[in-house]
Amino acid sequence: MKIALIAHDGKKADMVHFLSGFKDRLLQVDINLVATGTTGSHIQKAGFEVERLLSGPVGGDAQIAAMAAQKELDMVVFFRDPLDKHPHEPDVQMLMRICDVHNIPLATNPASADLMFQALTQT
Ligand code: PGA
Repeated sequence: MKIALIAHDGKKADMVHFLSGFKDRLLQVDINLVATGTTGSHIQKAGFEVERLLSGPVGGDAQIAAMAAQKELDMVVFFRDPLDKHPHEPDVQMLMRICDVHNIPLATNPASADLMFQALTQT
């Protein structure tokens, strides 16, 4: 199983907090994590193993969209910051659209990510 993680700057702490709540379960289930560059470094510092791609604004979101289009992902967790502006907004929209095109579970806030993670990591 492979899960992609992306968090805008205002949501990176939320992402680390969210993942930390699932640390034990993530160790039990065979899940590979992949993340955009800066999100990935925060996740690594929190003690998780994660494959890091480019930073979101320079193509990381697009890389994750490509993985989604190739059916390489089981879920995308994308904590967007709805109160901030993003130079790569077209990529953000594209990633969400690709998830919908390919019916890939997409969680854009901790409440939905929590529900999906629980279902995905059920043993
Ligand atoms: P980042 O990218 O993890 O490199 O900050 C996330 C984004 O802004 O899409």
